[in-house]
Amino acid sequence: MSREDIPVFVAMRPAVSVELDLLWNLRGLDEQLVVVERALRNFPEQRGAIERRLAAARTRLEQLRTELVELQRKRRTLEQEIGGLHEVERKFQSQLFSIKKNEEYTALLHQIEGTRQRRSDLETEVLLGLEAEDRAQAARASLERELAAAEREGAEQLRRLEAEEREQRAHAERLEGERQRHLGGLAPALRGRYERIRGSREGRAVVPILKGACGGCFRAQPPQVVQEARRRDRVLTCEGCGRLLLWPPEVA
Ligand SMILES: [Zn+2]
Repeated sequence: MSREDIPVFVAMRPAVSVELDLLWNLRGLDEQLVVVERALRNFPEQRGAIERRLAAARTRLEQLRTELVELQRKRRTLEQEIGGLHEVERKFQSQLFSIKKNEEYTALLHQIEGTRQRRSDLETEVLLGLEAEDRAQAARASLERELAAAEREGAEQLRRLEAEEREQRAHAERLEGERQRHLGGLAPALRGRYERIRGSREGRAVVPILKGACGGCFRAQPPQVVQEARRRDRVLTCEGCGRLLLWPPEVA
């Protein structure tokens, strides 16, 4: 190896302390990404909750409208039947004058009375139906107002969520860009290792040593490992969780 090769070699294999600083910075970026990605995963559920609430209100209103149409249909049928009974009564009344026999006359009077009674029952039913229609109409009107307010509120909430999500996505992209820049400073083998651990450990590849234990799985570290971490002369791995262990700079 010639002297001219040395700077190239140094450039390809960064100094350990530089790598440890990069790893610590990466840890900070990835901690932020864990939070941002958790927030991003929650957006579909929040949107879904708003949409489900609106759909339930629309269904209730639809049911009430159907109920009202059914009440009106039933009333029209009753009114037709009442009209028919009126006709029958008129016909019977006109027959009264042409009847000669007493018993036939009495029988017809009974029929007239029976028809009138039936008509009166149906008229009572129509009145009760009209009251039910009034109640359903009032309920529909108030539900329509509630739904309109809920739709406005829901649309506003969705707009807010969308803006928040856009902001979080932009934040995630900025963090990812930062991450890539930091990763580029690591030797390829360490970079690969970092990304593998990160992928299998919920986005956390580097943890600090806290009170002599791994900050990820809390496994106590041998004193020798703790000493090595303090000296910052190599990248250490926790035997418990496989994460990279660093002595936190703020207590160093
Ligand atoms: Zn661990």
